[in-house]
Amino acid sequence: MPSSPTTVVGAGIAGTACARVLAGAGVPVRVLDRGRRPGGRMASRTLHDRTVDLGASYLTAEDGSEFATQVRDWVDRGLARPWTDTFAVAGPDGLRSTTTGPVRYAAPGGTRSLVADLAGGLDLESGRTVAAVGPGPRVDGEEVPAVVLAMPDPQARRLLDADTAGRLLDDRPWEPSLAVVLGWSRRHWPADLHGAFVNDDPAVTWVADDGDRRGDGAPVLVAHTTAELAAAHLEDPDAAAGPVAAAVGRALGIDVPPEWTTVHRWTHARPAQARDEPFGLAGGIGVCGDGWSAPSRVQAAWTSGTALGRALLTAR
Ligand SMILES: Cc1cc2nc3c(=O)[nH]c(=O)nc-3n(C[C@H](O)[C@H](O)[C@H](O)COP(=O)(O)OP(=O)(O)OC[C@H]3O[C@@H](n4cnc5c(N)ncnc54)[C@H](O)[C@@H]3O)c2cc1C
Repeated sequence: MPSSPTTVVGAGIAGTACARVLAGAGVPVRVLDRGRRPGGRMASRTLHDRTVDLGASYLTAEDGSEFATQVRDWVDRGLARPWTDTFAVAGPDGLRSTTTGPVRYAAPGGTRSLVADLAGGLDLESGRTVAAVGPGPRVDGEEVPAVVLAMPDPQARRLLDADTAGRLLDDRPWEPSLAVVLGWSRRHWPADLHGAFVNDDPAVTWVADDGDRRGDGAPVLVAHTTAELAAAHLEDPDAAAGPVAAAVGRALGIDVPPEWTTVHRWTHARPAQARDEPFGLAGGIGVCGDGWSAPSRVQAAWTSGTALGRALLTAR
């Protein structure tokens, strides 16, 4: 056995959940992530002196699932809170109705805080971009007992040789999205909006009331764009701010332009279709994340990472 620890590349929720399983069983494990902090697509950033969620808008947890137990723990410790089960439904020309579904959970400290909590106590190296994972398995030339790639398929494919990639992955497409943050000095939308699904709009699919979900009432909205609009702005995402602000204004009936905007690009926001299988594993190289355990969302990524962690324990 090589003396290096089992290595998880990717400190999003999938990689962190996987590493927790291994560490919990006493397996030496380290997590490497190219970002400055853990979180991945559960990303929160400080803008105008407060935290704004730029990636996942909220969590859902299927009743009776293991993930529901994880979410309950976060709620009990004040890290997550039930946000709402009802959102507005809008079209390109205004608000139409409301829709009720499962309880959505939000994180007062930002969704990233949940991944940071899960990563607590783990051997985590941030700011470390891994360039190559190959047979052995090896991570940037270093032999390890096993390695996990916990990231979108296109990012994992970049690290793998063609042979290994062919065994673990397929060519399923991943779609981009832009998160556009819109700030005002006061609120211009209904107090009970929470968020709005925007149907039939060429620019925007969803708008979250960030002040409402965070609980501080700040006059900040976060809009997520269609894949088509994002694809047309991947080289110059900031140019999307104007068209998105106009689309949000029309959909929510806001006639005052935002006072500031920030755009974040998600080149690989989501798989066009996630797999039903929980993870991939061959020759000590595992792949997990929200491309597995369909449907693609935070619960799927956590479930996928947890399942791969257990499979690695069994394989030892
Ligand atoms: C705009 C948007 C809105 C969303 N809304 C919701 C929602 O409301 N509800 C919901 O449940 N889900 C939502 N999702 C999906 C949810 O965010 C993801 O399912 C989940 O966060 C995926 O976690 P992951 O660990 O699989 O991948 P990621 O979070 O993408 O983690 C991958 C990690 O790998 C790292 N990495 C990649 N390449 C390398 C490398 N070479 N070396 C080192 N590190 C590397 C990255 O830095 C990253 O931290 C949304 C996603 C987006 C983008």
